[in-house]
Amino acid sequence: MTRFDHDARIDRARHAMEAHGVDVLLASLGSDLPYLTGYEAMPLERLTMAVIPRQGKAALVVPELEAPRVEGLPNIFSLHAWGETEDPVAIVADLMGSAKRAMIGDQTWAVFLLALQELRPDTSFSSARPLTEALRVVKEPAEIELLRRAGESADVVAGILAAHRFGGKAEAEVSREVASLLEDNGTDVAGFAIVASGPNGASPHHEPGDRVIEQGDAVVVDFGGKVGGYGSDTTRMFHVGAPSARYAEVHNLVQAAQEAAVAAVRPGVTAAGVDSAAREVISDAGYGEYFIHRTGHGIGLDGHEDPYIVAGNEQILRPGMAFSIEPGIYLPGEFGVRIEDIVVCTETGVERMNRSSRDVAVVS
Ligand code: ZN
Ligand code: ZN
Ligand code: ZN
Repeated sequence: MTRFDHDARIDRARHAMEAHGVDVLLASLGSDLPYLTGYEAMPLERLTMAVIPRQGKAALVVPELEAPRVEGLPNIFSLHAWGETEDPVAIVADLMGSAKRAMIGDQTWAVFLLALQELRPDTSFSSARPLTEALRVVKEPAEIELLRRAGESADVVAGILAAHRFGGKAEAEVSREVASLLEDNGTDVAGFAIVASGPNGASPHHEPGDRVIEQGDAVVVDFGGKVGGYGSDTTRMFHVGAPSARYAEVHNLVQAAQEAAVAAVRPGVTAAGVDSAAREVISDAGYGEYFIHRTGHGIGLDGHEDPYIVAGNEQILRPGMAFSIEPGIYLPGEFGVRIEDIVVCTETGVERMNRSSRDVAVVS
């Protein structure tokens, strides 16, 4: 995949290192490495690590048996394949040269950082997140295009589900159906499909289980997968048979809150401001205590990343930022309602990655 200009990204990372006064950037597991190099480490016990000094040759240290997976590494990298009897941490420590200040990826196994700290007692280590998230948070047009395609695929599935049979099936069965529908309709890999029926809907991250969906149930379906490494994440509501007046009231409220938050998105607004746009609608109607999570999260190579749309986050929205808007109301013992879209902040306002109907779909 040569879709992205990794040399340019590393160049930006180096400028940011200068601004942060950092001598070397270390990236292992997680999305920083694929963002910067196009190569994703296998999440196993053998160390893979990019060593990117502020100046000079960068290196990618990989297990010898995984070296054949590495293709099209940016020009500035040399490849260091380590054999089974070598100590990869010592190789990294050596490649760090005279670095005094290092930044390291958040998702690096702790065991490697501990070993590195032993070998480099005079080097200070801090989280690379402030640097890499600042780069990753503003999406390039090619990244937004993949988010758009992921969203379109999820929308097709939402449309199919509106005519799907839910009643008489276990949540876990519907969850498997959603996953295969995603993969049959343009998603490379289905990631998750929360199906929470009836009272289970009051638990936002419910694990779909053997509860059989019955007549009169509201069903929360929250699902997503990846296209070219970029995620979809959408939640739609289904109701087996006609919804009660109480359900309709709560649904309309969540839908109004979701609309208000989407409408609040534009450059210069804070993440907290978007959260409060949704929260105000729900609080004003007296349901504030049942909206028990933040309004949204960023999305990109990671399913959850900056910016977090949450009270207290004064991060200012800029064109290219991509995130979910997903208010919900959770009534213990009764049902839950959540409506979720991915949106991108644009120069003039907002673009939705999801356009499927946000009304409740009455199903059989
Ligand atoms: Zn969630
Ligand atoms: Zn979701
Ligand atoms: Zn989400």
